Amino acid sequence: SPSRSSVIIIGAGVSGISAGKVLAENGIEDMIILEASDRIGGRIRKENFGGVSAELGAGWIAGVGGKESNPVWELASQSGLRTCFSDYSNARYNIYDRSGKIFPSGVAADSYKKAVDAAIEKLRSLEANLDGEVSEQPCSPKTPIELAIDFILHDFEMAEVEPISTYVDFGEREFLVADNRGYEHLLYKMAENFLFTSEGKILDNRLKLNKVVRELQHSRNGVVVKTEDGCVYEANYVILSASIGVLQSDLISFRPPLPRWKTEAIEKCEVMIYTKIFLKFPYKFWPCGPGKEFFIYAHERRGYYTFWQHMENAYPGSNILVVTLTNGESKRVEAQSDEETLEEAMGVLRDMFGPNIPNATDILVPRWWNNRFQRGSYSNYPIISDNQDVHNIKVIPILFLLHIFLCFHSGCTWRFPCCSCFIEKRGKIKRELHNASLNLASFVQAPVGRIFFTGEHTSERFSGYVHGGYLAGIDTSKSLLEEMRKQKERESESQAFL
Ligand code: FAD
Repeated sequence: SPSRSSVIIIGAGVSGISAGKVLAENGIEDMIILEASDRIGGRIRKENFGGVSAELGAGWIAGVGGKESNPVWELASQSGLRTCFSDYSNARYNIYDRSGKIFPSGVAADSYKKAVDAAIEKLRSLEANLDGEVSEQPCSPKTPIELAIDFILHDFEMAEVEPISTYVDFGEREFLVADNRGYEHLLYKMAENFLFTSEGKILDNRLKLNKVVRELQHSRNGVVVKTEDGCVYEANYVILSASIGVLQSDLISFRPPLPRWKTEAIEKCEVMIYTKIFLKFPYKFWPCGPGKEFFIYAHERRGYYTFWQHMENAYPGSNILVVTLTNGESKRVEAQSDEETLEEAMGVLRDMFGPNIPNATDILVPRWWNNRFQRGSYSNYPIISDNQDVHNIKVIPILFLLHIFLCFHSGCTWRFPCCSCFIEKRGKIKRELHNASLNLASFVQAPVGRIFFTGEHTSERFSGYVHGGYLAGIDTSKSLLEEMRKQKERESESQAFL
């Protein structure tokens, strides 16, 4: 029969590695880390492309320069990671139309302001809707420039529309990782603290690569973990760090199945797909210099090769452009050949810079959606975005979940829903609905028996970010350590009783 470890960590991304480090620091050495792929890092992943490190996943340390220090920024500083500041503020003045003309700055600034105002209005009307008031919906974007700005505001960050904890807590600056060792260097540095490494390689046999977990059998006594290659591992506890996309897929089955409150919370979290396509050219044909790093293409199809960045600031002389697609466009591009994608991207670049530009000599298209160990790029707990969504989000189950949550937190003597209590709390629940994203994350994070959940999607404040994953790993392992301590206490009490 398989030997039993204290803890099995599933997944060696930033959250799995940070969880392992905290466990080791607290004396839990007999852990096993099962990782489905052949490397650590997960969604922090570089590939050599055109002579530089292309970050296919996380690229930025977001949230720097504020009142609190971003822990990932601290790790980066300690390990001397090379970064460069990203100034997005000029992007709105580099908006190209399909004939290659840049929109005059006045027009661009006006459109941008209109779009921000409309987004704020949308949120207000949602609030009014929750309060039972009828309010007018702002009109939706129609022209190419409106669509382009809408894409930037909604598919990237909405910091100008609603406060995002990352920027509020850690500051508004963002730094692009521009280091040939890759963003993943931070993970190797972290792993060095508790896994045996030599010459930058992890040689510790507690880290098991190419181990795809397919089944978790859990009971009051422990967890049995089965992998695709027929191996069986046993542990007292499991920390599961697979992404929200993986949890929504059928890659891992649970015996007994996860309870309904858990599966519903997992289902309600949105999966964002974010695809950075890298293109290598024989020489530069785009403007460089201050304020030119980011540029935007306005097309009548929303999100069609909209957001561009040149890599000259990060890697001078690399002659690389990056274009970012999201969601539907990401899925479409993942399903077609790279040659077709190259052709589309070249068509867009010719619109912007004329017919005589050189063809790209290489292209790199990450496929996060079709990666069965990811199924998307990161989680998004939506602030409900329009009237239709209020209905779509299946308000009743959420109210139900929130109700249980409030009962626990407000000292309600009923541990399960009771009608009067429910009615009494309705007003509060409505307000809570606005914060449903936070509460949903706490349900996604909550343990089920001996299975503890971690990963960026379990972070209430920083989901979607590297620091969210890092901090979630720490929080989850601390909760587990607390549970282990309590379990020990229970055991010694019952022994004393005997
Ligand atoms: P992961 O890194 O996904 O780790 C989970 C691990 O579990 C993976 O290694 C996976 O292989 C493994 N696994 C899955 N299923 C199984 C299984 N069945 N058995 C065993 N192992 C399994 N964040 C930022 O802060 N800044 C950015 O600029 C940024 N940009 C991004 C751009 C893209 C394209 C993407 C994809 C992400 C980006 N992020 C960014 C988000 C950031 O990368 C993630 O939030 C973070 O890396 C998630 O870490 P994690 O440990 O939660 O999950």
